[in-house]
Amino acid sequence: MTMRQTLDFLLHDWLRVEDLLARPRFAEHSRETFASVLDTCERIAREKFAPFARLVDTEEPRFDGERVHLPRATHEAMAAYVESGMLSAAQDESIGGMQLPCVIEMAANAFFSKASVAMGGYAMLTSGNANLLMAHGTPLQREVFAQNEFAGRWFGTMCLSEPQAGSSLSDVATRALPDGADFEADPLGPRYRLRGNKMWISGGEHEITENIVHLVLAKIPGPDGAPIPGTKGISLFIVPKKLVDERGALTGERNDVALAGLNHKLGYRGTTNTLLNFGEGKFPVRGGPGAIGYLVGRPGEGLRCMFHMMNEARIGVGLGAVMLGYAGYEASLEYAKQRTQGRPITGAGKDATQPQRPIVEHADVKRMLLAQKSYVEGGLALELFCARLVDELHTGDEAAAAEARVLLEVLTPIAKSWPSEWCLEANSLAIQVLGGYGYTRDFPVEMYWRDNRLNMIHEGTHGIQALDLLGRKVVMDGGRGLELLAARIGGTIERARRAEGLAGHADALAAALQRLATATRSAWATGVPEEALANATPYLQAFGHVVLAWLWLDVAPAARGHALEPGKLAALRYFFAYELPKVDAWLGVVARREPLLREVKTEWL
Ligand SMILES: Cc1cc2nc3c(=O)[nH]c(=O)nc-3n(C[C@H](O)[C@H](O)[C@H](O)COP(=O)(O)OP(=O)(O)OC[C@H]3O[C@@H](n4cnc5c(N)ncnc54)[C@H](O)[C@@H]3O)c2cc1C
Repeated sequence: MTMRQTLDFLLHDWLRVEDLLARPRFAEHSRETFASVLDTCERIAREKFAPFARLVDTEEPRFDGERVHLPRATHEAMAAYVESGMLSAAQDESIGGMQLPCVIEMAANAFFSKASVAMGGYAMLTSGNANLLMAHGTPLQREVFAQNEFAGRWFGTMCLSEPQAGSSLSDVATRALPDGADFEADPLGPRYRLRGNKMWISGGEHEITENIVHLVLAKIPGPDGAPIPGTKGISLFIVPKKLVDERGALTGERNDVALAGLNHKLGYRGTTNTLLNFGEGKFPVRGGPGAIGYLVGRPGEGLRCMFHMMNEARIGVGLGAVMLGYAGYEASLEYAKQRTQGRPITGAGKDATQPQRPIVEHADVKRMLLAQKSYVEGGLALELFCARLVDELHTGDEAAAAEARVLLEVLTPIAKSWPSEWCLEANSLAIQVLGGYGYTRDFPVEMYWRDNRLNMIHEGTHGIQALDLLGRKVVMDGGRGLELLAARIGGTIERARRAEGLAGHADALAAALQRLATATRSAWATGVPEEALANATPYLQAFGHVVLAWLWLDVAPAARGHALEPGKLAALRYFFAYELPKVDAWLGVVARREPLLREVKTEWL
């Protein structure tokens, strides 16, 4: 079965995306327009991205001290992506968008992540950047910056991290000072001068587009001239690489943003990754050093603005992880069908006169393939489910939107982190299926693993997602998120109990859900955060596995009578037999507030 068949099944038979057509925002669409977007993206990904995935991995971006060089293929792939209109897929038609539902936009972008996640990175950053400006920018900032990004004339970045401030963004040290007495009179927004260093900035330098729009977090000093401590002091600025006027024309002035160097990464090599110096005087502008930046939103609200986009950005990261897993699954399945090795073990031992069998027929290889299938197809269901919730949030009625908001709060850490861990494991299994060949650069599976290894690190590390889930998301509003999720899971369990052959799975999920609820209460029983949160990562793992078991139990019945049914049921059975039992071990340490990790002394390590 192709990925497209699974995608169509999930979108139409499971998520019933056609119901969205009744909403005014999507009235101009039809099943056919959705299909045609998917067809176009599948084709561009196949023709312009996939053939060059290895090339952009081996021909890393190169900095000659002045300019950054990228393979020609990256420029061509990006031009084709821009041409497809996908940068503004979800935006209003009045500004050139397609008003596509988020769930279709994500599904269409999945093809690019699978074909070359590294080239797709530029597009994801640019639409994320422009979407943020549409939500928080002034009308002129939207027109000048966001619209030129949607048109693909300029690309965008997200500049949060600094060498000394990664997970702890409250410690960003980049400073922003008002630029002159008339700083508030600039039509592009209150104008500041920024000084500081931003580390790990993806897409921070290139010549794919004529300009780069950096969105930068920096601190405006308080009235006493000292930085305001904590996240409350952080503001958000548009810092273009080249200055522009209020009609969006380049003024010919280079802003004081300098590339200090490129980072040389394990994977994701096709996306430039940069250390940027803001305002150090390499490119003095308008009479002096200091990068010129325009405030977005109000002072002190920078992180809030950034986090506005986080749901979609994190679903995008999760989907990227799923697609890398998917690519490895397909490659290893194909290989396992061709590669012959070993003979069946029969009661009389092995018969060396018999031909060798394809390795796909060995039980252990089936284990590795079925595990991958359950991770990547389950992960795809998870991401599309969350994207469908985003549509509910934006276009559902009041009650549905309110419920979607709460569910997204608790599911977003899972959407980001579960595929980052388990679709990475899928990539590791894909290497194992290929044996020694999997460990070479002659096959793509090692590259998928290297690319995917990033996803547990960026957009909030695994550990930080775990703290967010157990420390905030499941306790906020008196535990409303977990309550709502449990109600949804309960609905699936009830339906499965009535369905043929699924009652045992329904009971297993009900028991796991019960243990999750109990462990959540036990973790917080003493009310001491250090005690509850010391085991946040096993909690995240258990929570994710319960969510995935639920989704499999929900998805499989929708496949009844479908050509995909046997495969979906096999993946469901695998997940319940081999994966769900792990939940007990993870929750054990959470529920008894296992003290080891608090007690262990640094000198013992
Ligand atoms: C390839 C790549 C691309 C990136 N792209 C961008 C980008 O475009 N823009 C951008 O702004 N950033 C980007 N980043 C930065 C990324 O978001 C950070 O690397 C990430 O937030 C972690 O920060 P750090 O590397 O400083 O690690 P640290 O924060 O030092 O973390 C190191 C380890 O300590 C753990 N840890 C830290 N604090 C805690 C805590 N309080 N409790 C428990 N554990 C903790 C972490 O989980 C992690 O395992 C990128 C990074 C990479 C590698």
